[in-house]
Amino acid sequence: MGALALTEPQAGSDAGSIKTRARREGRDFILSGEKRFITNGGVADYLFLLAVTDPSKPARSAISGFVIPRNSKGLEVVKAYSLLGMRGANVAHLRFRDVDVPRENLVGGLNRGFSIILDELDRERPAVAAGMMGIARSSFEQASGTHLPGSSWTSDQTL
Ligand SMILES: Cc1cc2nc3c(=O)[nH]c(=O)nc-3n(C[C@H](O)[C@H](O)[C@H](O)COP(=O)(O)OP(=O)(O)OC[C@H]3O[C@@H](n4cnc5c(N)ncnc54)[C@H](O)[C@@H]3O)c2cc1C
Repeated sequence: MGALALTEPQAGSDAGSIKTRARREGRDFILSGEKRFITNGGVADYLFLLAVTDPSKPARSAISGFVIPRNSKGLEVVKAYSLLGMRGANVAHLRFRDVDVPRENLVGGLNRGFSIILDELDRERPAVAAGMMGIARSSFEQASGTHLPGSSWTSDQTL
């Protein structure tokens, strides 16, 4: 199982403001930082993680993508969130303390991760938005008792 680790406590919609850092150490990297709201984060075998590799550059050329095995030394699952919806999902907060990342785990080239993640988000965000609208609509219908089979959800309620 895999997971995508992008979001951080201070970096959500603005993916370019992530702070998790992958420092060069010889030909390899040392990873430090935190990721939150990571779906499958506590159970995935591998994470695809975005980290800053060149803080002197703007986001589009500062960030790289890495494959991180979940059993890496220094990777801690801080907690799994208790969600209002999607209760079957394991959505976790992760911490990375000096995790060794071999050069071979770099995906798509050094400082090339931001375009990879933007391409992914362009596809994912409309699908997530549609799913959340469905959950919100279903919750509203259940709470207000407005849903009748075969009827429009807007036609039978008083709110
Ligand atoms: C159940 C769940 C699963 C998730 N799974 C993953 C995952 O697997 N991997 C991962 O990396 N992340 C994951 N996320 C994180 C998700 O991508 C972020 O929640 C999302 O990017 C929004 O970031 P935020 O929560 O920090 O909100 P913020 O970015 O702080 O946004 C808060 C509100 O402000 C609005 N807003 C923000 N910026 C602007 C602006 N410039 N102009 C106008 N309005 C703005 C937003 O639309 C939103 O309504 C998950 C989140 C949830 C809830």
